[in-house]
Amino acid sequence: MANKGYILKGKVLDGTLNQPIEDGLVVTEGPHISWVGSAADLPAQFKAEEYEVIDLPGRSIMPGLVDAHTHISFGESRSEEENALYTPVEFRAIKAIYNANKVLQAGVTSAFDAATTYAVAQAVRDAIDSGMYPGPRYTVSGKQITNHQGLEDAFPSEMQFPPGQAAVLVKTKEDLVEAVRLQVKDGVDAIKVSGSNDNLITPDMADVSAFTLEELKIIADETHRLGKICSIHARSRVSSRDAALAGFDNIYHASYIDDEGIEACLKSGSVITPTLTLLVNLIEANQANAGASGSSAFQREVTAAQENLRKAHEAGVPIIAGSESGWSPVPYGQWHAREMEIFVKLLGMTPLQAIHSNTLAATRLLAPRYRDKVGKLEPGRYADILVVPGDPSKDITLLQRPSRFDYILQGGRPINRTPPEPRRRMWYERTKTFLSGLYVYDEEKSQGHFLPE
Ligand SMILES: [Zn+2]
Repeated sequence: MANKGYILKGKVLDGTLNQPIEDGLVVTEGPHISWVGSAADLPAQFKAEEYEVIDLPGRSIMPGLVDAHTHISFGESRSEEENALYTPVEFRAIKAIYNANKVLQAGVTSAFDAATTYAVAQAVRDAIDSGMYPGPRYTVSGKQITNHQGLEDAFPSEMQFPPGQAAVLVKTKEDLVEAVRLQVKDGVDAIKVSGSNDNLITPDMADVSAFTLEELKIIADETHRLGKICSIHARSRVSSRDAALAGFDNIYHASYIDDEGIEACLKSGSVITPTLTLLVNLIEANQANAGASGSSAFQREVTAAQENLRKAHEAGVPIIAGSESGWSPVPYGQWHAREMEIFVKLLGMTPLQAIHSNTLAATRLLAPRYRDKVGKLEPGRYADILVVPGDPSKDITLLQRPSRFDYILQGGRPINRTPPEPRRRMWYERTKTFLSGLYVYDEEKSQGHFLPE
């Protein structure tokens, strides 16, 4: 007889801030969870013989991760040029589906995509939802709404705004409402705004917001009127504060947020998704790659973020975990659980708080599609479950080794854990570089000499 589902027996971390249940059970039926609690309290209606009972001594049972910041369409791009200019859209979409499988195999059973090139993220979401391909349950933003001061207007003004850029360029206040309405018509779940530049790229813009408070309010109000949530890329002090004042649901980065901004977050209910993994990985990778520059600017931002976001966390602003997977410093399937370790080390979270930030707390961004359906072990939610050796509420780094997980269930079924074959990069995916340096003529030796950059 076919089993109704599973009875998983082990330590239960349910995604909330409640202490783990030492001798716990999670019962699944079909795609959903039907019961969670202490083994001693299992109601008589759940008869062990009707389920596959799996004993998991020394293991923890917890919700699948919810990565609140991915870019599934970016294809591990090495540069803005590679992301915006190269690779035809059709190939990008196929590559994104290939990469989505890697994200799932890292234990990320749901994710929020924070900006896409073309409409690739919507296609990936729908291909997964319709059962064609494996991947996380996606909730997606479209292209970021930017103006000339936003991060995404990255190319010289002499150029046309590239159609492959993960953004739409808006020039007037009147265009803002139209941009929101068009994206909602085209099937996005959420609106994303490019609200500041990067301090590293343009230090003279360090304390500037790309949009006025009035413009941000227009975007937030129209987004909410249409039943969606809005996120913003905002590193600077002013952009973080104004995003919260305008009522943005989620502020990405907020590294330079001040007391006024924290106060505004508490008032508006805005959450912060710092995404420090990108910065920390850039620092480490640059150290490993002697001669590369930029580490010190990244380090400055991490130091500021540590102080400011720790304050925000202590003041009660919800802090959400996301990896920014999609750029080359954060390849798919590799670093999705690192943000939790960073939160413990830099922001003073307990491991349980960090797990909460990467599971239940992160479901705030999944509204309205999956908000109440994932991220927590609770009857009625999807049985998206990880079984992890040891106790991540004591050692958060255990979650960074997904190949050692006993099970990754999605919708009550173990996922295929066989990693996809590595792929070769096609010539048209990258910037055409002849040499990474100059080949000069040495008069003394009467021969050529290569000067690396
Ligand atoms: Zn991002």
